[in-house]
Amino acid sequence: MIPDDQSVYDRPLAELDPELSELMDGELARQRTTLDLVASESVPPRAVLEAQGSILTAKYADGFPGRREYDTCEWIDEIEQLAIDRAKALFHADHANVQPYSGSNANLAVLHALCDPGDPILGWDFAHGGHATHGWSETFAGRFYKPAAYGVRREDRLVDMEQVEALAKAHRPKLVFAGWSCYSRWVDFRRFREICDEVGAYLVVDMAHFSGLVAAGLHPDPVPYADACTLTVHKTLGGARGGAILCRTELAERVDAAVFPGEQGCPLPHVIAAQAVTFAIAATDGFRERMARTLAGSSVMADALVAAAGRTQATVVTGGTDVHQFLVDLAPSGREANAVLAQLNSLGISANAIRLAFDEAEEPGASGLRIGANPLAARGLGPAEFAVIGELLADALEDRSGARSGELRRRILALLEGFPLYQFI
Ligand SMILES: *Cc1c(COP(=O)(O)O)cnc(C)c1O
Repeated sequence: MIPDDQSVYDRPLAELDPELSELMDGELARQRTTLDLVASESVPPRAVLEAQGSILTAKYADGFPGRREYDTCEWIDEIEQLAIDRAKALFHADHANVQPYSGSNANLAVLHALCDPGDPILGWDFAHGGHATHGWSETFAGRFYKPAAYGVRREDRLVDMEQVEALAKAHRPKLVFAGWSCYSRWVDFRRFREICDEVGAYLVVDMAHFSGLVAAGLHPDPVPYADACTLTVHKTLGGARGGAILCRTELAERVDAAVFPGEQGCPLPHVIAAQAVTFAIAATDGFRERMARTLAGSSVMADALVAAAGRTQATVVTGGTDVHQFLVDLAPSGREANAVLAQLNSLGISANAIRLAFDEAEEPGASGLRIGANPLAARGLGPAEFAVIGELLADALEDRSGARSGELRRRILALLEGFPLYQFI
């Protein structure tokens, strides 16, 4: 029974609401015993959890540092300014807005800032690895703007820059999105910039996935080429669950106004504080080492699956990876990705089933897997462990009958035991 007196303000969750607390414990236990290969996930450090679960959540602070619609924001102003200054320093950006509630909100806000409803926009096709918010018909971007989409080439599955140029010339977009959710190679931001200059379009690089790699200097930097960059703080950047926008000085006012009051109400001060500590962590050598280990892990796993293609009948799209994730094409094996994912889940592995570009199957199923190294690298795993995981994945893909599942599950638990998730909980 929840006590109905003042003590609700001081009781720990486990005591106040054991029903909810047990569910949360269940999720923690799941995270501890799961080999997490979900490319968009990470392990938020304790300091991020503390900031994001803090008393800052109580404060209303509509507006920006020094110009709020609420009084008594002196501490929130300093916290938000700290987050802004750290984001600008980390990414060498002219201006940063740290208020978007998520990566999707950040994209919504840049569209709002730089386009009018009905304007043509050009984005990376959702069916070819782009994000839904770049113009897919089911989203605000697809409904309120006039989208066209480019994709990857059939022959090598690399983004088709000739198509980008041809579509830009034919469609005359006001804004071009570059950036992906399901892709594993570097993108030529300079070429995107040239194309945008040819047709007078804004270039927005959505680095939701690779912002951590950029911060570590281990990925081409889009900031010098883009008019604006959108990002998430919780994917490779590894921290607070939230979004941010970087932009050139000339666009700062429009971007800020599009976020607030354009799209959102009060910012989330607890999230902004958690972003501030995330940016501080991301500026350290330790973070750079972790991102290097993430990249090494991704490529070691991809190599193991390339080497095992004979027995798994699954191929690695583009033959490898430059980033924290890679894509596996299951079509040659004749297996449906959701069924394979269910098998992996039963072994204690999480990943994503995705529909790959040029998947011509009529049924709505998926033909590919997306495998990422970020959460496990955050947990401390290195190339030697990722090589073992590559072998485990290959063994699991080969083991169609499930005859080896007991053995595979034991190997996974043994591996994870050496890398406990959090010491403090
Ligand atoms: C994940 C992602 C987003 C959206 O981020 P959310 O925080 O989940 O809203 C936007 N763009 C790309 C490319 C992404 O991968």
